[in-house]
Amino acid sequence: MTTKDSVQTTNFIEDIIEENLKTNKYNGRVHTRFPPEPNGYLHIGHAKSICLNFGLAAKYKGLCNLRFDDTNPSKEEAEYVESIKSDVRWLGFDWGDRLFYASDYFEQLYEYAVQLIKEGKAYVCDLSADEIRETRGTFSEPGKNSPYRNRSIEENLNLFERMRAGEFADGFRVLRAKIDMASPNLNMRDPVIYRILKATHHRTGDKWCIYPMYDFAHGQSDSIEGITHSICTLEFEDHRPLYDWYLKELGIHHPQQIEFARLNLSYTVLSKRRLLELVKEGYVSGWDDPRMPTISGLRRRGYTPESIRNFCERIGVAKADSLVDIVLLEHCLREDLNKRTPRVMAVLRPLRVIIDNYPEGRVEELGAVNNPEDPRMGTRKVLFSRVLYIEREDFREDPPQKWFRLAPGREVRLRYAYYITCVGVVKDEQTGEVVELHCTYDPVTRGGWSPDGRRVKGTLHWVSAAHSLEAEVRLYDRLFVKANPVGEKDGSDFKAYLNPNSLETLTSCRVEPSLKGAAPESRYQFERKGYFCIDSVDSIDEKLVFNRTVSLRDTWAKIEKVQKRG
Ligand code: ATP
Ligand code: MG
Repeated sequence: MTTKDSVQTTNFIEDIIEENLKTNKYNGRVHTRFPPEPNGYLHIGHAKSICLNFGLAAKYKGLCNLRFDDTNPSKEEAEYVESIKSDVRWLGFDWGDRLFYASDYFEQLYEYAVQLIKEGKAYVCDLSADEIRETRGTFSEPGKNSPYRNRSIEENLNLFERMRAGEFADGFRVLRAKIDMASPNLNMRDPVIYRILKATHHRTGDKWCIYPMYDFAHGQSDSIEGITHSICTLEFEDHRPLYDWYLKELGIHHPQQIEFARLNLSYTVLSKRRLLELVKEGYVSGWDDPRMPTISGLRRRGYTPESIRNFCERIGVAKADSLVDIVLLEHCLREDLNKRTPRVMAVLRPLRVIIDNYPEGRVEELGAVNNPEDPRMGTRKVLFSRVLYIEREDFREDPPQKWFRLAPGREVRLRYAYYITCVGVVKDEQTGEVVELHCTYDPVTRGGWSPDGRRVKGTLHWVSAAHSLEAEVRLYDRLFVKANPVGEKDGSDFKAYLNPNSLETLTSCRVEPSLKGAAPESRYQFERKGYFCIDSVDSIDEKLVFNRTVSLRDTWAKIEKVQKRG
């Protein structure tokens, strides 16, 4: 694991690149790409790939392209393209003028297929999809050659042209590579190169009715763009021989495919297909629901790009799959927010407090520190008056032992203000619920200390009732109750582990008046409560809406301490 203060180390991908640089394999060039399929929003797993690809380009003074892998016309939508561009930019990466689409290469890819046919390395096959599957064989048994495998080059060229011209129905014929039906690698058993699909494509419209398969499009797109290192996740390891076969047989620029383990994160799912299910079936409010592990969800939740980049740096890259603890992500977030967010006072579940001996109508401005971690962030004034709100949970009528907060007859400090003592409790006659406290304040304790040196242990946050703003606060918890919701069977029952309490909405919170007019996405630490941000979708000036980004308690720091001790 790399941390800022440890020595610079290289990961296994960097080792490969450095070896290539030594032997001048690509004339000293490093050119990577991030190739999303526009069939959903990006998630934190994609962030790992983005940081890796753009990060390597930056480290070796190379380039990184953004390329949409849009070879699958039925699923892609322009909305996804826009969200992906905006997410990559927000993460802090720049593809310059190198925004590409695999669909830009359809004509060239078609030419490559024709080239393979002409060289006797591809053939048109009339078997149905089912028949192709049935004749493919298994891990232990070889496949069977297609009866169409030995069609003449002329016939293949003619049929392929007519496939393109739209003469045949969907699925009626395919173009296949002629490799080896007995190969131990199933991907090499005459894989399909082109299929007929009469679907409208988001960029090429109805120009094409045949579409290249992923494996045929991906490597050739890499080659066309002059990519040197094609970095992908482990599930493509078995496809590498095919990736290499196409490029070798076509005799074109040959990038090196390198696989790494995808990110799995506890208490969530990282698969666009599953995330889409949650969106479509209404388990969340959308792709940018603050509980989602999508980049747009994390952003709306209050994550900073820096914290996500730092997380990706710390988890590193490896060859073996693992499940990363989400508390590490939260730790990286707290570390960053602690440095940069202003502290403010906000009361989430207000309890009215009347200071009996404080003059009516009087308002005092008291000095407060914006961020004890960073004196440059300055100070502000908070307003104190006779009627205040404190947190309901900071008062107990029958306090347990070691209770340092407010209780009848007890004295506490109000942050930046005075010591107060509880002298009366008003209850609702019907329900018995505490509705109001009466307190007295000690005027000589202004600023929160006493000249006689008497000690109070508890310090509470508060707001002035008349001056504070009403706000809604959304408290988020883990989306799933199980660390690995896709760990059972095939993962299909992952929705059974959704956390029914992942969102709690508090509608009558009170926040200090300095928050008036705060911009969407502004981040704060609510003293003693956690980090919060202004919701970019629902917050309006008249009624601020905050999302809890993360609580203050850092379980990762504890884990690390135990690890160090152990
Ligand atoms: P999903 O399974 O979520 O649909 P995908 O791999 O199909 O993901 P793509 O749009 O094809 O999504 O991915 C673009 C790039 O991001 C690929 O290079 C892919 O390997 C990488 N990627 C996707 N998920 C992860 C992950 N969890 N960790 C690391 N990289 C990932
Ligand atoms: Mg994919």
